[in-house]
Amino acid sequence: MQTAEILNARLEATEHQLDELTAKVARNEEKMRRTEQRELRLLQAEDLEALLREMLGGLRASYALQQVGVVLCDPDHDIRHLLLAAGTPAEGFDGLLMVESLTGLAPQYVALRQPWLGAFATCDHQLIFPRPAGLASVAMIPLTHRKNLIGSINFGSEDVSRFTRGHAADFLAHLGVIASFAIENAVNRERLLRSGFTDVLTGWHNRRYLQVRLNEELARARRDGSHLVCLMLDVDHFKRVNDNWGHVAGDAVLQELANRIDSQVRASDVAARYGGEEFVVLLPDTDNASGVRLAERIRRAIAASTCDLPCGETVPITASIGIAGVTPAPDIEDLKTVGDSLIARADVALYRAKSGGRDQVAVDES
Ligand code: GH3
Ligand code: MG
Ligand code: MG
Repeated sequence: MQTAEILNARLEATEHQLDELTAKVARNEEKMRRTEQRELRLLQAEDLEALLREMLGGLRASYALQQVGVVLCDPDHDIRHLLLAAGTPAEGFDGLLMVESLTGLAPQYVALRQPWLGAFATCDHQLIFPRPAGLASVAMIPLTHRKNLIGSINFGSEDVSRFTRGHAADFLAHLGVIASFAIENAVNRERLLRSGFTDVLTGWHNRRYLQVRLNEELARARRDGSHLVCLMLDVDHFKRVNDNWGHVAGDAVLQELANRIDSQVRASDVAARYGGEEFVVLLPDTDNASGVRLAERIRRAIAASTCDLPCGETVPITASIGIAGVTPAPDIEDLKTVGDSLIARADVALYRAKSGGRDQVAVDES
C-alpha cells in the first residue's frame, strides 16, 4: 500500500473511533441528564408518602422496569408509625417492605455497599420480590444512614441482560446516595410535623425534642462505641437588642441566628432551640476536635455580618459556644444521667467562653 493510502486508512479508522466515542459521550450525557431529573424528583418530594411513591412508581416508570421494591429497616417502628400518623400506612404502598432487621432477607445484604447487579435467583431474592414471576435480572441499590445499611431499592427486570455483574453501576450508586438522603430528610420533617417538638419562632426543634434525641443518640453511641459531641450556643449581650430595639427586633435576630447556624450543620446533626437565646447542636460520631472546628465555623458565620432588623437598623451579633463530648461505656445503663451531665458540662464550657470575653469557643475540661 502507498503511504497515502495507509494514512488514509488510519485516518478513517480514527474518525470511526471518534464517532463511536462521540456517540458514547452523548449517550452518557443523556443518561446523566435523566438521572439528575430522577434524583431531583426524589429530593423535591413534599413528604414521606410522596417520596415513597416516587421511589416505587416513579422510578419503575422512568427506568421502564417490571418491578421496583423498597426495603427499609425500621427496628424501632419509627417510620411505620410516622406513616400511620400521616394516614398513609406502610401496607398501602405496593412494593414497600418494612423489616426490623435485614438479616436473612437476601444474602447480598451481608456486604451491600455498592449496587449489586445480577441474575434473579428465587432462593436468594424471593423475600425482597414477593411476586417473582417473569423476573430475570435484578439490581439491589443500597440505602444507608451514617454509613450503616438501612435497606435497598430493588429493580427487577424481565430482561436477563438488563442487570449483569459486568455493568457499570455508578449512576445507580449515585441514585442510592440521593435516595438515602431524601429518606432521612423526609423522615425528619415528618417527625417534626407529627409532634409537639417544634419551636414556633424559628421552626427548629425544641428542647423536648432535644431530650428525646439526646437519649436516642446516646443509646446509639453506646451501641457503636462512638463519641457524641454537644455544642451549646448562647447569644452575646442579647438583652441589649431587646432593650434597645424591642422584642420584635430580638425575635428577628433569633430567626436570623437560627438560619446562620443551620447553614453550617449537617442533616445528620441534631439542632434545637434549647431555650430563650440558647441553641444546642448534637454531633453524632464526631470527635471533640471536629466539634471545635464546626463550632468555630458557626461562630464565624454568626459574626460575619450584621443582622438586619425589621425597623431598618442593623446590629452586630456574636455568640459564645461551649463544647463537651462523651463516649458512653458499653455497660452504662442510666443514659439520662449521662445526657444531663453532657449538657451541664457544655454549659460550664459556655460560661468559660463568656468570661473569656465572648464571641469564642471553649471546650469542657473535666
Ligand atoms: P450574655 O452575653 O451573658 O449571654 O448576655 P445576655 O444579654 O444574652 O444575657 P441573658 O442570656 O441573661 O439574656 C437573655 C435574654 O433573652 C433575656 C430574655 O429576655 C431574652 N429572650 C429570651 N427568649 C426570647 C425571645 O424569644 N425573644 C426575645 N426577643 N427575647 C428573648
Ligand atoms: Mg442565655
Ligand atoms: Mg446570652
